[in-house]
Amino acid sequence: MSSSPRIYLDYQATTPVDARVLEAMKPYFTEQFGNPSSISHEWGWRAQAGVDRARDQVAHGIGATSREILFTSGATESNNLAIQGVARAYETQGKHFITTRVEHKSVRDVFLYLEKKGFTVTWLDVDAQGCIDLEDLKRAIRKDTVMLSVIFANNEIGTIQPVKEIGKVCKEHKVFFHTDATQAAGKLPISVEEMGIDLLTFNAHKIYGPKGVGALYVRRKSPRVTLEPLVFGGGQERGLRSGTLNVPGVVGLGAAVELYERERTSERERVGKLADGLFEKLKDAYPDIKRNGHPSERLIENLSLAIPGVDAEALVGDLPGIAFSSGSACSSASLEPSYVLESIGLSEKQCQGTIRLSLGRFTTEAEIAIVTRGLIDAISRIRAKNRV
Ligand SMILES: *Cc1c(COP(=O)(O)O)cnc(C)c1O
Repeated sequence: MSSSPRIYLDYQATTPVDARVLEAMKPYFTEQFGNPSSISHEWGWRAQAGVDRARDQVAHGIGATSREILFTSGATESNNLAIQGVARAYETQGKHFITTRVEHKSVRDVFLYLEKKGFTVTWLDVDAQGCIDLEDLKRAIRKDTVMLSVIFANNEIGTIQPVKEIGKVCKEHKVFFHTDATQAAGKLPISVEEMGIDLLTFNAHKIYGPKGVGALYVRRKSPRVTLEPLVFGGGQERGLRSGTLNVPGVVGLGAAVELYERERTSERERVGKLADGLFEKLKDAYPDIKRNGHPSERLIENLSLAIPGVDAEALVGDLPGIAFSSGSACSSASLEPSYVLESIGLSEKQCQGTIRLSLGRFTTEAEIAIVTRGLIDAISRIRAKNRV
């Protein structure tokens, strides 16, 4: 190859900041640099106004009220605050939690920690498409069940859970419902009311906002959810998350949510077509390639592909200019096979042969054409090498 292309297809790992989001943030680094807690002067008021506006934008994006939104340092912190915060607040009423086998590590590892601290956790299985079974859920609920935590849309395979139905079951049984919606918020229409969600996590950097900022929605009525804080100090965020807010980041999160609300329909349609087109071309070339996840209830930008006879690491190595992830995706720092892929029934071999491509707002048709060609050639090279 002469000059290798540089194409980013890892939007589910992170996204670039949209120029329009950056524009909204900029003044809050320089002129409007005040501390929103400074209530005695204009600098503080201006910063507070920026935060208020962002809180309204975020609340509007999920059909919540502004007072139900807490700002955090990201989805990992939001998940920790939601789960540990509820666990500590309701400890005397119950110590049983339910979650799934396909959670992001920032949910999974919190529950593993709680198990060590004397809480009981039921881990729901998923079917071959990555969905939980509502009957399993109903059976798992006990008298002392405090909360269910389910990932809204999966970061590895893109499967979207039947959130509305899950919310209904939780309401009927008076169990709190938390969802890690980091891969869904913004991209999919969400209404915490219609979906019966009590706590909801997401961040800015998966939706064209900055890294290091996130939100947690906490329901205030019917039912009201109480949390114990994890971080103590100046009492910001109604005492639930002390520390001076990342004001430019918060403003960026608000702007990112609002942008998506305006452009969601057209963007999703375009990106979905590109992803489907790429898959069809690969499938034409290699009919044995399988797309993991649910055929229709899925994030349209996600292409989790099991490619028989190909080692994902080798494929990544063969296409240095193209950014995508191999098997274990988010946690590719560790080389263990992905527990998400194992949960949908993939063998170790199949896990090793799985790649995740994720498209986004700035993916072009020209890029997809190059990637299609590149993948087809690389797979053929690797398979030829394996045959000798
Ligand atoms: C990226 C991601 C997280 C972690 O988000 P950070 O803001 O980087 O902490 C949590 N959950 C899901 C589903 C994610 O995709």
